[in-house]
Amino acid sequence: VIEIHDLHKAYGDLEVLKGVSLTARAGEVVSLIGSSGSGKSTLLRCANLLEHSQQGEVIFQGEPVTWKGQGPHRRPSNPKQVTRIRTNLSMVFQQFNLWAHMTVLQNVMEAPLTVLHRDRAEVEEKARYYLDKVGIGDKADVYPANMSGGQQQRAAIARALCMEPQALLFDEPTSALDPELEQEVVRVIRALAEEGRTMIIVTHDMQMAADVSDHVIFLHQGLIEEEGTPARVFAMAESERLKTFLNARQ
Ligand code: ATP
Ligand code: MG
Repeated sequence: VIEIHDLHKAYGDLEVLKGVSLTARAGEVVSLIGSSGSGKSTLLRCANLLEHSQQGEVIFQGEPVTWKGQGPHRRPSNPKQVTRIRTNLSMVFQQFNLWAHMTVLQNVMEAPLTVLHRDRAEVEEKARYYLDKVGIGDKADVYPANMSGGQQQRAAIARALCMEPQALLFDEPTSALDPELEQEVVRVIRALAEEGRTMIIVTHDMQMAADVSDHVIFLHQGLIEEEGTPARVFAMAESERLKTFLNARQ
């Protein structure tokens, strides 16, 4: 579904990604782990073109992103391609990012209506279906402020699903939650993994990464330090940096 080759990204003099490659095939779950500042969020944002990388390729469903300009001036050249990629790689953020002035149902319906121009009745039916799926079907008419963090995050997942994207990108979806609420969200993500959704998940939750991933990538200072199956990365880490990182989280 998505392939990234040798991606480079700098903010001014700060090189954040120094040549990172990643592939998520259909049905695969790839987890990104690594210390704060290692470039995990930047990599996700470069994958769906929210950020502009300066070198390297992003390939969505076999179609390479076309660029104009060079280095810090490089930009995607085809706006239709950008929209196609954005709408097909739905993001779920740590802070939920729900619209406070809209009910949960309105939040979930907004992008399919305004971006995809889908039929309202059809979108509402889908929205209710996905709200049920994440276990908050009874919260459709509630405003985000009146829900728990776990419920808000499940609403944000329903909103991403309602776009019917080719893949879901999660940026620390459970980090803002208390442990009990975290588990509500982990259960939803696990169910999505079991039904074969393609997902890239940035997480500090090693247990979840071990449970749901097909492939785990450990980023260190903008480079892949080690990667492999969860069994290998978590039980047979080779790199000292990865061992130190994992030991600090037990
Ligand atoms: P965390 O676990 O804390 O979320 P991360 O691995 O997601 O960290 P990034 O957010 O990708 O890390 O940031 C990587 C580096 O890039 C950090 O040093 C950060 O300060 C820097 N950075 C991120 N966004 C910007 C920006 N918009 N402008 C300048 N520097 C940035
Ligand atoms: Mg981050």
